[in-house]
Amino acid sequence: MSATPAALIGKREKRLALLSRILRWVTLGSLLAFVISATALHTLGYVGPSIHALCPYGGLESMLTLVTVGTFLKRIVIGTFILFGSTVLLAIFMRRSFCGQICAFGGLQEFFGKIGNRLFKKRPVMPQKLDRVLRYLKYVVLAVTAAMAWITGELWITPYDPFNALGHLADFNELLTSYLVGFIVLVITLLGSIVYDRFFCKYLCPAGALYGLIGKASPYAVRVEEDACIHCGKCSRACPMNIDVMNAKNGKVTSAECINCNECVNVCPVQGAIHTGYSKKFRIHPIVATILALALFFVPMGIAAATGSMQLLPNKYVGLPWGSETYTTEGGGEGGHEDEESAEGEDACETEETEVSEATEAEADEDYVPINGYSPNDLRGSYTLAQTADLLELSLDELYARLGLPSDYPSASTLRVAATDMGMGLSDFKHQLFD
Ligand code: SF4
Ligand code: SF4
Repeated sequence: MSATPAALIGKREKRLALLSRILRWVTLGSLLAFVISATALHTLGYVGPSIHALCPYGGLESMLTLVTVGTFLKRIVIGTFILFGSTVLLAIFMRRSFCGQICAFGGLQEFFGKIGNRLFKKRPVMPQKLDRVLRYLKYVVLAVTAAMAWITGELWITPYDPFNALGHLADFNELLTSYLVGFIVLVITLLGSIVYDRFFCKYLCPAGALYGLIGKASPYAVRVEEDACIHCGKCSRACPMNIDVMNAKNGKVTSAECINCNECVNVCPVQGAIHTGYSKKFRIHPIVATILALALFFVPMGIAAATGSMQLLPNKYVGLPWGSETYTTEGGGEGGHEDEESAEGEDACETEETEVSEATEAEADEDYVPINGYSPNDLRGSYTLAQTADLLELSLDELYARLGLPSDYPSASTLRVAATDMGMGLSDFKHQLFD
């Protein structure tokens, strides 16, 4: 027998379900807008956090160096660890709610998924066998990236990371040079999300893999009440992770794939047939779930901020208001501002990623005399010669003399191009300035 009409949800529940979905989308959209605008500030040379500071996964990558030698990986600041800690806390209490309720990159994929909904009458589904194999890929990515970060002592994933590419959208030149692979992965992710929901989350994201594994220990889950369920299949069809919610074993969704978005709960037409929470009795409305997830995520950061520990800016920016100008060139150039990727301290040092390996050797001996407070690693390959002279407060003639450049060499050329023209590696080229 089918459920009686009395079991169907009423207008109030429908409105609350809609409100819950809107709240989640607004949350994801706001955090996405925040990440894009804050990192654009940084990339364009204003005071703002780098994408590394806003990516909790960097906290995991930096964990071993913190434990073993007591320092962070380059580009990681204390705030990244607190961010990472918040996501772990969230995973313990609410499984992958970070993915479903907070992650800006997950939100971006969902927005592209909406485009897909408009383009396709029926969204394609990845062939089951292939899907099953591909889902393991993210665990491989997790193992490889964590191991490589620990082995190399670098944020090894950076050049291949689409989230990092997203944080450098404001510098297209750099995107197409230093972060080309990451940019390609970003484009594939977005196109993939048009076709398949949450493409990156399903197959590639190491952070999602980690939260899924941690969340396995959490009592928090989506549960289906067999007695009330009318087997309409709406929950399974609504699931962006393609989980067969309706037929979940023992009526409980324990899959590490579930991102706790509560879409399944919000589409159910039957009163009490599906719910999220800690047990059959301890249920949580999806609206409360979103608020709780936000609280678990932001409260630790708020406490850290209140005690002065929530640093998201490189050391040299600390105390400066976000969005304030750090440097303006007179001669124009890319963006017209210094892109200060570097911090003064070892632990918060942020250098251009492509230069890291080249610079490692040169950094080791620290054989340079700072000019105007700048070290070789403060200079990015994308700086023009005019910008560099300005930064270091050197005349162009002196800069050229130090670099061995002919006087008619174009000052609009970047350090990287000039280094190539001089047949040198970028790191060695920059170090010449400081000899
Ligand atoms: S799987 Fe990764 S990208 Fe997707 S929501 Fe989770 S953390 Fe974000
Ligand atoms: S099972 Fe429900 S909560 Fe989990 S991902 Fe699917 S729709 Fe979202």
